[in-house]
Amino acid sequence: MTPDEFAKFIGTLTGSAEAAALAKEVAIDPVAAREKIRVPKDAGEYAADLEAILRRIPRGWCHSIDCGPGWYPLLSRLAKKLAEVDPDGLIEVYQVKDKFAELRVYVGAGELPCCRRANEATMDQHLASDEHQELAAEAKSRLKVVNALITELTDQSREICEDTGEPGIVMDSGNWLRTLDPVTAPDHYEIEELDEELVDWELRIAAGDVEKLEATVRRLGREVAHQRVVMARLLAALRSERGR
Ligand SMILES: [Zn+2]
Repeated sequence: MTPDEFAKFIGTLTGSAEAAALAKEVAIDPVAAREKIRVPKDAGEYAADLEAILRRIPRGWCHSIDCGPGWYPLLSRLAKKLAEVDPDGLIEVYQVKDKFAELRVYVGAGELPCCRRANEATMDQHLASDEHQELAAEAKSRLKVVNALITELTDQSREICEDTGEPGIVMDSGNWLRTLDPVTAPDHYEIEELDEELVDWELRIAAGDVEKLEATVRRLGREVAHQRVVMARLLAALRSERGR
């Protein structure tokens, strides 16, 4: 099959001109297609930050941002931190994706510039040199700063809808976990764990006791985002109950 035939085949199969164009690129040069910088089309104001992250992905890794736009503000913070602590690019990014309903970013120190310059025959000597030791220590300390931020962003992503950026909660489609706003989540996603408290609220809501519910949510004093999500979910349940 020629690249054009392959593109036509994929285009017919998917009904997408974009998929067909990508298929052609893959057919012509799979490695180049994989490593081409593709800033997500919905990047908007975050395009430059996402591109900066994509440019840190080394050869051999898929150059893509595999999460929804609701998390782009988190990635923007990461891009700015990387630019600040690692302006000369000692740190590489390997993957950016959603996994188990949270943002995962994998980073590491690539081959250090001093090692790239060193002669293979004298590598042992180079590795013991002050120049190498200092740069390696510097890379390690930068990674520590960046990984601390990534941990923070991963934690935050569990309360932000990956699609919309609104407050979110972990939801389960049966085979995939995502953090979504229950108001806009696709129908086949359910809140992952309906704890007993929540079920109790659902029952009160069904009985129309909204004031009691609101008081309960306030009393519990959870994070604002979580409260909003729970309220939205339960108020939606009440509306559908009344509509019945
Ligand atoms: Zn070195």
